[in-house]
Amino acid sequence: MSDLNLILLGPPGAGKGTQAERLREDFGLPHISTGDILRAQVAEGTELGKQARRYMEAGELVPDDLIVKMIGERINAGDARDGFLLDGFPRNEKQADALAEALEALDRRLSAALLIDVPDDEVVRRLAGRRVCVKNPSHIYHVDFDPPKHEGVCDQDGSRLIQRDDDKEETIRKRLEVYHSQTEPLIDYYDRAGLLRRFDGSRSAEDVHDHLRAAVATLRLEDQL
Ligand code: ADP
Ligand code: ADP
Repeated sequence: MSDLNLILLGPPGAGKGTQAERLREDFGLPHISTGDILRAQVAEGTELGKQARRYMEAGELVPDDLIVKMIGERINAGDARDGFLLDGFPRNEKQADALAEALEALDRRLSAALLIDVPDDEVVRRLAGRRVCVKNPSHIYHVDFDPPKHEGVCDQDGSRLIQRDDDKEETIRKRLEVYHSQTEPLIDYYDRAGLLRRFDGSRSAEDVHDHLRAAVATLRLEDQL
């Protein structure tokens, strides 16, 4: 049985969540979004949520030890044992090393790092207009680029659409800064390991999906040979 262990890299707003949902449908891989997990913890008021909240509101990274523990458990849960699609993790070299170690301990390895790249001005446009379903955060919309049929209402389940607290201009700038200084070095990190695949995220969501789907299908074939 091939296990496709994939990570999605790219700036905030690149379309990682949008594409992860499509790939989940194509390949049956669980979509593990650290941002979504953290926001659920904040909403539930758990200990982790309480600790993470102020970092998220400020657009800074939540401390590595909290995240690494959470992900180590998640990738070994039943549905992720045959592969996963990680979205939002790793965010720095320390997290990338921790992921490699966790996989090695399970006798698994990373299949590829899929980079969805978009320029900063496009990130700002995308995040400022992003709306998400209050019930299921993987239902993602954009007021101009992917509007719902009825304003403010999720097409998929009729729930209300909301704007994330950190999708305001000032926090977006901070998140971009954090991306460039802490996460972008991972592009080189995975390139050196021969795992990087690059995708032009400034194209339409359909185009990006076509390219990603073809690349993942090839990876799966190679793995089965
Ligand atoms: P986006 O999808 O816009 O890139 P995320 O939902 O991935 O944003 O992340 C939102 C916030 O959650 C981040 O700004 C950060 O505070 C926190 N976060 C998510 N993933 C991680 C991680 N791997 N390490 C540290 N903080 C994280
Ligand atoms: P990320 O998970 O990388 O933060 P999202 O998938 O949440 O990014 O997408 C950010 C915003 O951009 C959403 O409003 C989404 O509808 C929109 N979007 C995603 N992909 C594209 C695309 N290729 N072209 C235009 N808008 C897009």
